[in-house]
Amino acid sequence: MKILIKGGFMVDPANEICSRQDILIEDGKVSRILAAGVVGTAAAAAEGHVDVRSHEVGLEETERVSAAAGIDIRNDSVEMPKTKVSPAVDAAADMVIDAAGRVVCPGFVDIHMHEDPVGEDGRIVSDERTAIFPCMLRMGVTTAIGGNCGSNACDPAKYLDLVDRDGAPVNVGMLAGHNYYRAKAGCTDKYAPASAEQIRRIGLGVREALAGGCLGVSYGIRYAPGMDLEEMTASARECAAAAGEGLPREGSQKVSGVGSRCERSGESAAGGSRCEGVQKAAGESLRSEKTLEMTGTVEAKAKRQHRFLLAAHIRDDTAQVFASAQEFMELGRRLGVRLQISHIGSMAGFGQMEEFLAMVETERAGGMDVACDCYPYDAFCTEIGATTYDDGWMERYRCGYDAVEMCGGRYKGQRLTKETFGEMRRDDPDALTVAHVMKSRDIEMALTAPGVMLGSDGILDHGQGHPRAAGAFPRLIASYVRTGKMGLYDAVARMTAVPAERLGLENKGRLSVGADADIVIFDPERIADRATFSEPLLAPVGIDYVLIGGEIAAKDGRVVNGRLGRAVRA
Ligand SMILES: [Zn+2]
Repeated sequence: MKILIKGGFMVDPANEICSRQDILIEDGKVSRILAAGVVGTAAAAAEGHVDVRSHEVGLEETERVSAAAGIDIRNDSVEMPKTKVSPAVDAAADMVIDAAGRVVCPGFVDIHMHEDPVGEDGRIVSDERTAIFPCMLRMGVTTAIGGNCGSNACDPAKYLDLVDRDGAPVNVGMLAGHNYYRAKAGCTDKYAPASAEQIRRIGLGVREALAGGCLGVSYGIRYAPGMDLEEMTASARECAAAAGEGLPREGSQKVSGVGSRCERSGESAAGGSRCEGVQKAAGESLRSEKTLEMTGTVEAKAKRQHRFLLAAHIRDDTAQVFASAQEFMELGRRLGVRLQISHIGSMAGFGQMEEFLAMVETERAGGMDVACDCYPYDAFCTEIGATTYDDGWMERYRCGYDAVEMCGGRYKGQRLTKETFGEMRRDDPDALTVAHVMKSRDIEMALTAPGVMLGSDGILDHGQGHPRAAGAFPRLIASYVRTGKMGLYDAVARMTAVPAERLGLENKGRLSVGADADIVIFDPERIADRATFSEPLLAPVGIDYVLIGGEIAAKDGRVVNGRLGRAVRA
């Protein structure tokens, strides 16, 4: 299948391209980029490359540079420069997508998503009325990373196999959740430290997960406060070791043999049945062919020295956020590993953001490989039974019970009272809540700061939850770019090139020739999130096409092929 995307305004920060280009897709890859009009100096154009280094290309700026190059991205009737697309290319395409007046950019990469849903039938849950993956796809995400905040619903390496077997609505990468392996090692008390034997078993579990293709390790320190630095080091050391050796490792490839039990870490709703489903599915020898395939690439991978990511929902927020981040960064100091501080809006978004960002920046300047992600909302979402709501939370967030809204169940949409808070925490601890407690100024400061990328933190419970799962990405353009808080190029970078680089994904988040043809085509004037706290699944508007692997996965906000996504492995 050859698709020509014609006349669109290509924004590809990984390649520093912000100009009108035609893109030819063949066999799932970007096969040619054809300049339809080049932005930049005449000399640069003559040399055949564009030179737009500014990270401050906003809509107005885009319009200005477009005008300078004889392009009007808002005017569909503009004539294509005649010499640029050869009729031969046009004719050779099986399908031509007219992208005039549209932005064409790499599919969004969501570095922080929560779910790895498996149904009782052992298949990936992708029901459009309740599941998160169709929401991701409809908002332009083509690669989503699950297993964040220490949590996996089931063995993450097996989940990747399942994605390859069935296909998912989006490409899926996984982090190995430290808390998941902690629970598997028999730590039943989240407030108590792990024993030496348990720590050893956590390390072994993580080693297998990395060998099975996980992109790194995540910690939910907040959710298991008994975890100390020594325990965290056990899994961090596996990342450092695997990075040095390359993957896969001998003797650790038989992923289907891993883990006879399958608990979800932390405070879970899932129950055992869907875990059994994935066990059953993974019981089939899913990896045997893959393993053979992989051996050929061992050397290349070792040479590349993939650097696994350590991501953390750190121990505490508000006034304690500084010490909590320092605790996590100690892993970087000790092991030289790559760090990601998760969803900083809900950690430092209570008036600490300026100082927090300055602290992170100081560490970066000092050589620490650390970055952050954030979602563009001023309310966080977590289970009512989580440690977040342990005694003292109202003092920390300077709020009352009524700052918290229930996402589902008996009190859906209602603000809590002392009575209903107590009742729900006791009777339904896994129920999701939204706490409207962060400062929007802090969120804006985070999202526009250097080294901060967009991550949805998406999580749903039976189709209920926080609208970030279905709106975070378009919202960055609607609420930040169109209001002049951020340039379009900058926003696209934070949703594509920056997270892809962070995760070490060479063929995602960019439209280089040979890269996977995961592409979003949207109207920069119209794109907007529509999901709300009462209707968290509503699809955004203004996204014409989402392509995964060179095929159309979503069109005009509707999923047309929900099985194009594949596993993304380290
Ligand atoms: Zn978290």
